[in-house]
Amino acid sequence: MSPLTLDSELKRAAEQADWSRVVHRCAWCKRVADAQGEYVLPRELDADTVVTDGMCPACGTRALALLARRRLDREQLAA
Ligand SMILES: [Zn+2]
Repeated sequence: MSPLTLDSELKRAAEQADWSRVVHRCAWCKRVADAQGEYVLPRELDADTVVTDGMCPACGTRALALLARRRLDREQLAA
C-alpha cells in the first residue's frame, strides 16, 4: 500500500467517523465534557466510546496555581 493510498484511506475514515462517540476526559479529576463542553461527574462510558484525555479548566487552574506557588517557594529559598 502506497503512502498516498494510506493517506486517502485515513482521510476517508476521519470524514466518516462518528465524532459523537469521542469523549473528552480530564486525566486529573476524570470528569468528562458534556455536549456543551462543561466537565461533569464521570458517567459510565459505552464500550464503543473513544476517550481522549486532557485537562479540564478547573484542574488547569489548580495546576497553574501550584506551579506558581512552587516557583515562589524556590525564589524565597534562593533569596
Ligand atoms: Zn479536571
